[in-house]
Amino acid sequence: MSEFLLKPRICFGQDVLSALRDVSAHQALLVTDQAMVKFGLAARVTEILGERGIALQIWDDVVADPDIATVVRGMKLMDSRYPDLVVALGGGSVIDAAKAVIFALAQTRPDAGRLRPCFVAIPTTSGTGSEVTSFSVVKAHAEKLVLVDPSLLPDIAILDPTLVASVPPSITADTGMDVLCHALEAYVSRAASDFTDALAEKVVQQVFRYLPTCWRNGQDLQAREKMHNASCMAGMAFTNASLGITHSLAHALGGVFRVPHGRANALLMAQVVAWNADYQGQCDTEAAHKYAHLARLLSLPASTAREGVTSLLVAIEALKDEMTLPAGIHGTGVDGEAFEHRLAEMVGQALRDSCTPTNPRTPDAQALTELYRQAWSGSAVQRHG
Ligand code: NAD
Repeated sequence: MSEFLLKPRICFGQDVLSALRDVSAHQALLVTDQAMVKFGLAARVTEILGERGIALQIWDDVVADPDIATVVRGMKLMDSRYPDLVVALGGGSVIDAAKAVIFALAQTRPDAGRLRPCFVAIPTTSGTGSEVTSFSVVKAHAEKLVLVDPSLLPDIAILDPTLVASVPPSITADTGMDVLCHALEAYVSRAASDFTDALAEKVVQQVFRYLPTCWRNGQDLQAREKMHNASCMAGMAFTNASLGITHSLAHALGGVFRVPHGRANALLMAQVVAWNADYQGQCDTEAAHKYAHLARLLSLPASTAREGVTSLLVAIEALKDEMTLPAGIHGTGVDGEAFEHRLAEMVGQALRDSCTPTNPRTPDAQALTELYRQAWSGSAVQRHG
């Protein structure tokens, strides 16, 4: 049976944070991080909850790429004053931490079913789409584990572009490329459908149109709103269609070398598109034809599948260049010797990653090793283009 799950309720638009006023609760837990405190975004949430007379506990030191120790810390905190409302305010790291804490406590408390709090996710990056996905990524030692369960879905997502205006250009670039990667991977996934394709096609067009503006001028709230909505739509697509091996490779690279998630995707995406399309061979795979269709939607030359894939690859590289992202993994500060030393470990992680089974081509260890090496130099696309 095929299905398309629609949840949560989505409130979107400038200053829609006020939608929090409609949520009733007695005891809330705010999950957030220090950037939200520094930029005054946490204060905007606490003010609204305070006006409503809702008692508030604050967990404001969630770190990027949360690990199991972080989740355990959150569980203890949440268990000490069990809330009827959890508000996650932050990027994917904060939202994923909140998801994992709610999920883990639900497994351990016998009364958890009755006590499930209302869960509101308020993203402050335009990247992961975590506010609408049944995924949570948690690090265990040097491995990123992807937890997938429908109970991880928030009840309400609040998409307010004014909360993204403070994101600096480099994080805007990384997270924006994550959005593009979600759309591209959902689009060619083995579990893609008419529903997910429609979302992915819209996302790809919005990213190429609005991401460079967000990168140049973070205060452009119209462009920010388009990217924020694109991020959410990409999340809707991939929570239903799942992802592919760009994500599997990026999870391992991020887990072992702490390369930020969006940047890791940005540096691996073109190589995976070329491999899925069989660019070095006939370039006649179903994925190749779908990529060519995307090129047409972007008004790029695509009279054949190969021409369309070439156009898409060039467009991806041009977008990276425009936002001064490094061409390859070598430009991220990862040591070349350490990279080679940990290559087999990363390939092993990527092979067992939960995003791998839906990739349109089934990879083996040799193919993933080659993709990592191509992404190290970032030169494969030009060589074959
Ligand atoms: P992030 O949450 O790690 O945030 C990156 C940095 O940006 C942090 O330092 C954060 O404090 C800062 N930041 C966030 N919002 C800001 C704002 N408005 N102004 C200024 N600074 C701000 O980055 P992310 O890319 O949003 O999330 C990445 C994490 O999400 C990774 O762990 C990744 O594996 C995971 N992820 C989850 C899903 C999912 O569906 N659950 C999907 C993709 C990725």
